[in-house]
Amino acid sequence: MATSTNRIALLIEDDSIADWLTMRFLQPAGYQAERLSPGTDLKAYFQLCSPSALIVDSSAPAEILHSLAEDFPLLPLIYYASSLSTEEALQRYQEGFQAVITAQDAPRKALAAIHRVVARHESWQRWVRLDRKRHTQPLERHIKDLERLHRIGGKISASLSTDQVLREVVVAAVELTGAEEGNLMLLEEESGNLLLRAAHSVEDRKTSLLCVPVYDTLLGEVIATKRAINLSGSELTKIKTAFLVRALIYVPLLIQEKAIGVLGVYNREGVHTFSDYHQKLLETLADYAAIAIQNAKYYTASERERQKLYAILTHVRDGVIVLDEEQRVLLINEACRQALNIKAEDYLGKPVDQVLFNSDLVLMLKQPPLRWMKGGEIRLEDGRILDCQVSSIAGVGLVVTLHDITHLKELDRAKSEFVSAVSHDLRSPLTAILGYTELIAKVGPLNERQQEFIKRVQASVRGITALIADLLDLGRIEAGMDAHKELIDLRPLLHQVAGSYQTSATAKDQQLEIDISPDTPLVWGSPVRLEQMIANLLSNAIKYTPRGGKLGIRTWSQSGQLILQVWDKGIGIPPAEQPYIFDKFYRASNLPEDIGGTGLGLTIVKSIVEDHQGRIWVESTLGEGTTFTVVLPAAEPENLQKRPK
Ligand code: ADP
Repeated sequence: MATSTNRIALLIEDDSIADWLTMRFLQPAGYQAERLSPGTDLKAYFQLCSPSALIVDSSAPAEILHSLAEDFPLLPLIYYASSLSTEEALQRYQEGFQAVITAQDAPRKALAAIHRVVARHESWQRWVRLDRKRHTQPLERHIKDLERLHRIGGKISASLSTDQVLREVVVAAVELTGAEEGNLMLLEEESGNLLLRAAHSVEDRKTSLLCVPVYDTLLGEVIATKRAINLSGSELTKIKTAFLVRALIYVPLLIQEKAIGVLGVYNREGVHTFSDYHQKLLETLADYAAIAIQNAKYYTASERERQKLYAILTHVRDGVIVLDEEQRVLLINEACRQALNIKAEDYLGKPVDQVLFNSDLVLMLKQPPLRWMKGGEIRLEDGRILDCQVSSIAGVGLVVTLHDITHLKELDRAKSEFVSAVSHDLRSPLTAILGYTELIAKVGPLNERQQEFIKRVQASVRGITALIADLLDLGRIEAGMDAHKELIDLRPLLHQVAGSYQTSATAKDQQLEIDISPDTPLVWGSPVRLEQMIANLLSNAIKYTPRGGKLGIRTWSQSGQLILQVWDKGIGIPPAEQPYIFDKFYRASNLPEDIGGTGLGLTIVKSIVEDHQGRIWVESTLGEGTTFTVVLPAAEPENLQKRPK
């Protein structure tokens, strides 16, 4: 008998026949008749409504019926005709119809045919459902197992607690294999025993295994062979060391080809044996456990190293600051916190200029990398001076080290004072020596050799006098005795200095080019010292450029700064010596023997530049030439109106 949900679809052209079938047979028998119009999307209808049968007459196009049969092979087709010969009916059955009814059939017979078809359809569907379930059930279990494994895998990367992960692994091992008990044992290197690290039992039984020797045991065999063991029933009874169990799997935990422990599951009471699939699951879980143990080892090792490094950095006497690539603070050690008077505790991760308030240091870190890589000095409020070195470390950021050089500075100052005093005292006797050498020739005739000796004495005394003058100048500049500064237009000064060196350049057939931009800004400074700076650079360019060479001086304005370059196409400076040429008394190794000098000229230049808050650097190629670049801050805008036209 039809149930209330049984639908029967009709694909019948003639209205009266469709009505007759519906009223006479289908509805009274409890079927829900649904007549499909020619425009209906049959596929969609059958998918959505899944009727129990379709009744068609000769009007139904054969290709439609054919494609329906392909898409819905379980759908029973019933053929209706007003009358049909036995051969024709047979023909319909051969075409795939499951029943044939005609107007001449007794109603009971026609209905019985419909019931039969519908009943068969239902039993087919039931069978298909059951079959599908039979096939999908193991698949669903596999998926659930995989999901469980996936979850444990996720926990390993998220958790740092090895105990928790290992316990999780053992519980999963027991549940996924349907075992009664499971445990995880790890090898203790010194004793060679396996020690219990995690256990789980479905009935919460206390585990009897706490420590097992590796020698001559099943567990020992797994460690030695690095292979799993899956045993049950009689295989087990033969093994004396297998404790009373009916089935077990042991799988090794492997790290870099070395067995470090065993994951096992057991059945002591149930007859359930373990399959290869269970063994594979267990092997995957053992891999997870091994990864968790290795992660923990790495973590402990790196944490120990981190703490060691932290202790070293904290206790060194030099200040250390570590910044990330966005200049946020990663570390400030104790020495640095004390030196810079950093009270805040929550400086980690903050931008450096919100934590450090020493203007020299903040300014230095704001400079482009090329500038701070050369390091510098920073002055503390209490007068101490720190040498500051900044290095960039790929993947970390910047490391700033601060070293107290106050005592060295003090020593340097004392030395400069001493040199100044001695130089000053030497000046008068030297002037006297020079005076007397000039007088000697006047008091009596000298032979040629005597005249030659007198000239040499005079040259040496002039050399010493120049050296003393340089030393005294340096002493004054370093001691900050050139306090007088004014607003200066360097353009006329540059022309004047260049003019005074024109004769020396011409004497060496050199071409002196002067390129002074009209927008060269005003600077705040000492005219005497700036003139000395330009003169030193220009005289070096002439001195170290061979006869007939080219040299020049140029200036321009850039980003609120005055840029001055003194260049030449001379002998150049060896690259390895370039860092030292500003040091006192340093003279490069490539100088021709007949070119004299004190080695103090560039030291004076650098001191003057720094005294004017400027910067100086050299670029030079051996045998091709040298360019010295001086950058001086332009005078404040409010002073610019005083600029001469
Ligand atoms: P010096 O009295 O020897 O010229 P400086 O301090 O002026 O001393 O210069 C130091 C050294 O730098 C020089 O001895 C020389 O080796 C090198 N130097 C300076 N200027 C130039 C230049 N324009 N070309 C090549 N070398 C130079």
